[in-house]
Amino acid sequence: MAIWEEKFECCPREELQQLQLERLQSSLNRAYKNVSFYRKIFDDKKIVPEDISTLAEFKNLPFTTRQDLHRNYPYGLFAVPLREVVRIHTTTETIDTPTVVGYTRNDLKNWSNLVARFLCAGSVTHDDVIQVSFHYGLFTGAFGLHAGAERIGASVIPASSENTEKQIRIMQDYRSTVLVSTPSFALIVADWLHKLGIDPKTLNLRKGLFGGEPWSENTRKKIEERLFIEAFDNYGVSELMGPGIAGECQARNGLHVFEDHFLPEIIDPQTGTELPLGQPGELVLTTLSREAFPLLRYRTGDITSLDCAPCSCGRTLVRMKRLMSRVDDIIIVKGINVVPEQIEKVLMEIEGCEPRYQIIVTRENYRDCIEVSVAVSENIFFDEMRKQKTLLEQIRSALIHRLGLKVEVKLVERKTLEENLQRSAKVIDKREL
Ligand SMILES: [Zn+2]
Repeated sequence: MAIWEEKFECCPREELQQLQLERLQSSLNRAYKNVSFYRKIFDDKKIVPEDISTLAEFKNLPFTTRQDLHRNYPYGLFAVPLREVVRIHTTTETIDTPTVVGYTRNDLKNWSNLVARFLCAGSVTHDDVIQVSFHYGLFTGAFGLHAGAERIGASVIPASSENTEKQIRIMQDYRSTVLVSTPSFALIVADWLHKLGIDPKTLNLRKGLFGGEPWSENTRKKIEERLFIEAFDNYGVSELMGPGIAGECQARNGLHVFEDHFLPEIIDPQTGTELPLGQPGELVLTTLSREAFPLLRYRTGDITSLDCAPCSCGRTLVRMKRLMSRVDDIIIVKGINVVPEQIEKVLMEIEGCEPRYQIIVTRENYRDCIEVSVAVSENIFFDEMRKQKTLLEQIRSALIHRLGLKVEVKLVERKTLEENLQRSAKVIDKREL
């Protein structure tokens, strides 16, 4: 089985740790010299990067959080001047202040290389025709996969967000062998094939690389059985790079973390203390090679565990378990991160409704639906139908506008909502992920 960068992917662990320390040192220097946010952290602790010579010392530095990124919007954490930035992406959060992430020429080179690693790990080769059915935009998914696929020399089709029928036509006529999309889109394709009376076996599709939303082993099985393909998982965080942080090999028993570029830690999300290897906790990542946007000890909010045991594929890189859940209430729908506080903010701006709500996420026919129950003051609730309808429409369009997603809205009496919130959480995710 081919390995894209054997030198790094199969490196003895001791050598790898040495390389990590060296790269960490230059990351710390870059952050200290060029990012005032990080310089202040060092100055407050009265240390300079040279004082950190071991991983244990490094772990005394505070975490970087999503809030820190927001406070430094848009360019506050950039470590290079804009003229050295050749690409800008943002996180997919549906919020007013997304995180703006810059890439230098070298960052883009590393990015495509790391995506090439997991494509290669999934046995995708230059003979493949790769249909990228992610939306091309500020979101990192499409561009990341696209560049990696070109890097390995495959034929790339930027099918983007064309409608399903057209995607199927492309698949048939251009003989796509690999589908890159969200796992739910793969299932929508399977449904459409059935509807159109097309036997999936008549397609050339043999593999799928799925991401952009959490998915389970069960979904993997369904996709594989219905499309007659092998489905692979990969992991990315748009604040750090997007896809290309970790990916599955043929063993499909965890995702190899590209540790020579990202230093992983697992912490107890409550106390922040490091957890022993193998125990599930929040994944914390430090960039080791990023030039434009170095992040130190970034709390990803994703819950997973790490496994150092040797893998049958020969790679020595640690494996992370497929994502289990999130630390916070962020809901990932169609690759977009929905932050509940954002909904609260929208509601506060609308007269007549209160910033009290409950979110229920369901999945019907592989499409995720968000329903928001909003508390309204009693006089509105008992007011005439027409007024209620106007308010409902106002909330709905404000939410759709701000979230970029379709949302169902239900008006409820404050008392009823409060009773509901006593019985259940603010965010209920009923999808079987
Ligand atoms: Zn492996």
